[in-house]
Amino acid sequence: MTKITIIHGDITKQPVDAIVNAANSSLMGGGGVDGAIHRAGGPGILAECVEIRDRQGGCKTGEAVITTAGRLPAKKVIHTVGPVWNGGQHNEPFLLANCYTNSLRLAKENGLHSIAFPNISTGIYGYPKAQAANVAVAAVRSFIDNNYGALKEIIFVCFDEENYNLYMQILESAS
Ligand code: ADP
Repeated sequence: MTKITIIHGDITKQPVDAIVNAANSSLMGGGGVDGAIHRAGGPGILAECVEIRDRQGGCKTGEAVITTAGRLPAKKVIHTVGPVWNGGQHNEPFLLANCYTNSLRLAKENGLHSIAFPNISTGIYGYPKAQAANVAVAAVRSFIDNNYGALKEIIFVCFDEENYNLYMQILESAS
């Protein structure tokens, strides 16, 4: 059984095996949740991001890479790059679903059992929140169905109340 939990809070405070960062393709840090994770976790995270960038040239939209979590209470940070919202006809739902699926796959491959996600792409990248929440929940459910027991807990950490209410509605209406 995999438990899905929704929290209204700050992802940098979560004592889980992995937290997911909504990074950009350079992996060199940015604003929003990305800035908060690097600030709270310290320079060790960026040092590993630089190594990955030098090795493979960053991270493409929808893909994911893993680093240390530095000083954070989490064990690892999984960096994924969400799509920039560009009207919805540019593969945005597919790319956003890939962020969740590829992050979960990386967690599984690394033997990590609890993972916390922010609301990827719903900040600076402008993805409409309700649509993003539906994509996120569907992708996570599909991964759980196809990877039975790989993850023990998947947490959606909602920073703003609007996202929190949307996730509560989606999960309540489907259970
Ligand atoms: P993106 O570029 O993918 O849109 P942002 O960081 O701008 O990334 O926003 C993604 C989501 O992360 C937004 O819903 C924002 O409110 C949220 N967020 C910002 N700071 C934090 C935090 N410390 N913990 C969890 N979520 C956060």
